[in-house]
Amino acid sequence: MSWDQIIGQQRVKQLLRGMCESGRLPHAMLFHGPEGTGKDAAALMLARALNCREGGFDPCGSCSSCQSMQRLRHPRLKLVFPLVSKADEDTAVDKLSDEELEEMNAQIDAKAENPYHHMRMAKAAGIKISSVRDIRHEAAFRASTDGRTVVLISDADRMNSNAANALLKTLEEPTGDLLLILTTARKDSLLPTIISRCQLLRFEPLQEREIHDALLRRTDISKEEAGAAAQLSGGSYGLALQLALEGGLIKREEVLAYLRAIVAGNPNKLMERIQTILAEEDKQTLVRFLVVVATWFRDVLAVQSDAADRVLNSDFREPIQKFAEHYPDADCSRAVDEIAYFIDLVQKNVHLVNMMIVLSKRLRRCIIPSEHAF
Ligand SMILES: [Zn+2]
Repeated sequence: MSWDQIIGQQRVKQLLRGMCESGRLPHAMLFHGPEGTGKDAAALMLARALNCREGGFDPCGSCSSCQSMQRLRHPRLKLVFPLVSKADEDTAVDKLSDEELEEMNAQIDAKAENPYHHMRMAKAAGIKISSVRDIRHEAAFRASTDGRTVVLISDADRMNSNAANALLKTLEEPTGDLLLILTTARKDSLLPTIISRCQLLRFEPLQEREIHDALLRRTDISKEEAGAAAQLSGGSYGLALQLALEGGLIKREEVLAYLRAIVAGNPNKLMERIQTILAEEDKQTLVRFLVVVATWFRDVLAVQSDAADRVLNSDFREPIQKFAEHYPDADCSRAVDEIAYFIDLVQKNVHLVNMMIVLSKRLRRCIIPSEHAF
């Protein structure tokens, strides 16, 4: 159990090591960068290091503190993430229903099992002031024991304005040994006053090779699957994991409906589809959707090249087979390239509806090339 668990991010690890060993850790840090690049994982490893009974930057992994940290149940660790909202106001953890508490604990267990798991509750509304208000209290309470209290605020951009203002007070008057670590993939959505009070640490997208190797080491998927997931993940190990193990969490029916709308050639129907896809107004959801569309084309390509055993969406083998038979001239590798290009665009400031219209046109051209032949 060591820093090797954090995939890649050598620069970040070196910076953190330097801060720890020189005793110059700030009171508040902001880890920012794309989803699934190890921001939470690094924060949790740092909490472990700061509280290991053996001391030093590399936690021993076997002392009682390291073991509690491994389970994410440690008096010196507090996890804050978006919770379910009750009616109109902020709900403290102790006001959650039994069912919601169970869901919350299941999320924490999943995170303990895999630090790249993105903690999320089904009906999460945001980070509540009650979650943030407790922080100061907690720090004061623990200050007399060994170690350092670490509060990880995951998805910090999802703090509502009350929570953000409460946090600002904590940031303005740092308390003793409290270390606040905020993580976000959307730094620009945070209050500038919060950003300016944190030491920033940027997490870069991971290398395809790093993701590929980690998938092979940590899961039992095949080399082909690992290759495909790594290639399509855009540098996010979290996304690669979802693709490899959970089919991208996107309903493949939705992908199928989108492709049908493209080939049907009815602009109104296609527009309706695009609006459904963009309904969540969340760029990450759109990226995941596009990644799954890309896996679909990869699968058709596999069928076209007589490698049907490499199909990723194996539960959709039949429609994929049909699609391959129906569109024998489909240029699937070009479709994958097009999608990769548009996934890059999503991250930039483009108009998403227009972007999806252009992408749909280009995909149609890939699927039915004869239409555009001279
Ligand atoms: Zn230890």
